[in-house]
Amino acid sequence: MKSLNGINWHPGEAFTAECKTQGCNEVPRPDCTCGIYASKSLDHLRRLGYIEHRIHGEVCLWGTVVEHEGGWRAQFAYPKNLILPLSAVPLGMSSVESRLTTLAAYGSDIFVLGETGTVPLWRTGSGVDANGLDLLVQRCSEWYARRAEQRRIKRGDRVAVIGHGIAVVEHADNNQVQAVLGGRSVLRIEREEVVWCERNTRWETAMDAGVNFTARRM
Ligand SMILES: [Zn+2]
Repeated sequence: MKSLNGINWHPGEAFTAECKTQGCNEVPRPDCTCGIYASKSLDHLRRLGYIEHRIHGEVCLWGTVVEHEGGWRAQFAYPKNLILPLSAVPLGMSSVESRLTTLAAYGSDIFVLGETGTVPLWRTGSGVDANGLDLLVQRCSEWYARRAEQRRIKRGDRVAVIGHGIAVVEHADNNQVQAVLGGRSVLRIEREEVVWCERNTRWETAMDAGVNFTARRM
């Protein structure tokens, strides 16, 4: 995790304020702007636009603490809990897992901020909470379903027929793809012989792989 000004927060270590403006010996000084900033309310953070796409949460503050109307500036801080907005959660399940492992290292409870409020995701001592996990799994499966939909071959799609050129799909179902090559040759290809190539981001097929070739009468 990083603070808004790009300083790393290391798991298991108190975050310690430094003064970059006046080089104060004791941070924070009442007449300076230095220190770790914490707001008194989530609403305040929301109004500043800090919540929607960022990890936020409650924080323990100690050492020298200067109180202001809307919040505090402190010498030391450590997260008490972390709230993860759904929009900041990665989409693939493997990325979610590695993100969760990173955050769990802080030893703070983790919540997910969904549409209906915060849901526990990780409890110090007991680990993953099924409620938060459900939310993440649901979000991931929606994403996988959308991605599968984009990968469904349909009329108008282009298929690279290796060694021959690009054919345009006229009709496709679960068994067969009918495509036109060069505007005149009609190809009937077994559906399973047309594969999505992630590297070239296109459909591809090999001409000798079950391609049935007829010339179109014009
Ligand atoms: Zn200062």
